[in-house]
Amino acid sequence: MTIRIQADVAVVGSGFAGSLAALALLRRGRRVVLVERGRHPRFAIGESSTPLANLLIEELADRYDLPRLRVFSKWGTWQRARPDVACGLKRGFTFFFHQPGAAFADDRGHARQLLVAASPHDEIADTHWYRPDFDQALAREAQAEGAIYLDETRLEALRREGDRTLLDGVRDGQSVQIGAGFVIDASGPRGFVQRALGLAEAPCRWLPPTQGLYTHFEGVERWDRLMPSPEPPPYPIDDAALHHVFPGGWMWMLRFNNGLTSAGAALTDPVAAAIGAADGAAAWSRLLAMVPSVAEQFQSARAVLPFVHAPRVAFRSARVAGPGWALLPSAAGVIDPLLSTGFPLTLLGILRLVDLLERTPPGRERDAALLAYEQTTLAELDATERLVAALYRTMDDPPLFKRLSLLYFAAASFSETVRRLGRPERARGFLLSAHPAFGPELAALSSAAAAGPQGSARRALEARIDRAIEPFDTAGLLDRRRRDWYPVVAADLLASGDKLGATPAEITRLLERCGMAPTVGS
Ligand SMILES: Cc1cc2nc3c(=O)[nH]c(=O)nc-3n(C[C@H](O)[C@H](O)[C@H](O)COP(=O)(O)OP(=O)(O)OC[C@H]3O[C@@H](n4cnc5c(N)ncnc54)[C@H](O)[C@@H]3O)c2cc1C
Repeated sequence: MTIRIQADVAVVGSGFAGSLAALALLRRGRRVVLVERGRHPRFAIGESSTPLANLLIEELADRYDLPRLRVFSKWGTWQRARPDVACGLKRGFTFFFHQPGAAFADDRGHARQLLVAASPHDEIADTHWYRPDFDQALAREAQAEGAIYLDETRLEALRREGDRTLLDGVRDGQSVQIGAGFVIDASGPRGFVQRALGLAEAPCRWLPPTQGLYTHFEGVERWDRLMPSPEPPPYPIDDAALHHVFPGGWMWMLRFNNGLTSAGAALTDPVAAAIGAADGAAAWSRLLAMVPSVAEQFQSARAVLPFVHAPRVAFRSARVAGPGWALLPSAAGVIDPLLSTGFPLTLLGILRLVDLLERTPPGRERDAALLAYEQTTLAELDATERLVAALYRTMDDPPLFKRLSLLYFAAASFSETVRRLGRPERARGFLLSAHPAFGPELAALSSAAAAGPQGSARRALEARIDRAIEPFDTAGLLDRRRRDWYPVVAADLLASGDKLGATPAEITRLLERCGMAPTVGS
């Protein structure tokens, strides 16, 4: 017997993204089937959120009336409402720059570090999502909202019949046939639609080939215990996405509130080959030997899951949408976790796609809108890839790496602030990539930095980076007296009214909503 299901939309993959897309569609009265190959709870990589990602969670929750989702947008509400769902506290982005084989050392100018606060205090801080719990919680929300949920289902084929898409699969030994008006692919890179339609992969144009090696640990020591700072940092250094950068690669450390820490590395092929990255735990030990101060953090640590070796981190699909189907950005491309760009890109895609399905009837108008969705998704992946590629090229050059990464922090914090002020039209495109001045400049600066300029060309590049940042800098990023430690300062926002197109009263109200007294100077 074949199980037959008819739905308006079939969502393939019940990671956080598939469940969120399903939830939004259900709130618009669509009949949704959510199909999952595996079963929750399950391990998933991709854990660190950002202010923009959390703002987009809020926007989704408000637009689609999902108050039970909104609590996940901040550490404080999450801890009170859903202590059963593990997560980590993320107050900012922490970078330390290492020389291979040498113990970490720095000067009072912080030449080998960069700390950028993302929030002024814990209550409204970002989080690391412990995906086994988080994804399960959202899949349950989707079911409670009325999604037909088929887990442990192996989809085998996709075909169009008239204006319907048919998905054939097997569940529990039984054939399943799903007929849907539209298919959203949320099954990750090289996912279901990619394979079923034989979509081509697009080569990365800028990024060097990289490999991943990662798992979850217990007993990872805090960096601030091993290397106490002589002066108070802008936020507790380990309550952050902690990056250890070295020539040819970097390691991440994300601490959860259940005693576990996600740690891993993204490595260019030569570094991956040098440590034999496919060897799992043995490769990890060899990597730690390259960064002795990081090794100290792992002296009493134990991996609680087997290591994952990803022979290629980055992935790009040549196509993103077509008649009757679309890939979420996370299925269309993975760049690199270096700047935690996966979540905001994916959440922007969910908002756009659900809106598109709501506004356009099937047919020519929708096909045109899907083409625009494809172009936007590819352009945003391009902008991200170019910047991250330039950062890879400068991993042996901390001053230039830091300068370049401020482009990201300027674009991200500006975009977040104008969205919070109700002026999203001032920040078009992820990383302002569709802004007529900033977008092309970001691309040009990324290329110029990747070329490794020396002498006067390098000084000219640094000055040009500063000029690109200045109109969007609402966080004191160009204030060199901060010595690459950037706290969240109310006065920076109050001084940025012209850039933001906002009155002092509007900024004051925004600061109050964030629990920051506007008179506070630091
Ligand atoms: C090493 C690494 C680290 C990362 N770190 C970060 C980070 O810190 N911050 C960030 O913002 N982004 C990060 N990313 C990107 C992030 O992982 C993705 O943006 C995110 O996981 C996307 O979630 P998702 O729900 O779309 O897909 P996934 O998490 O990949 O979930 C896909 C789901 O689809 C299911 N599925 C797969 N195939 C099928 C099928 N054929 N049929 C049915 N179901 C199927 C899977 O079982 C799974 O449940 C990282 C990526 C990598 C590779």
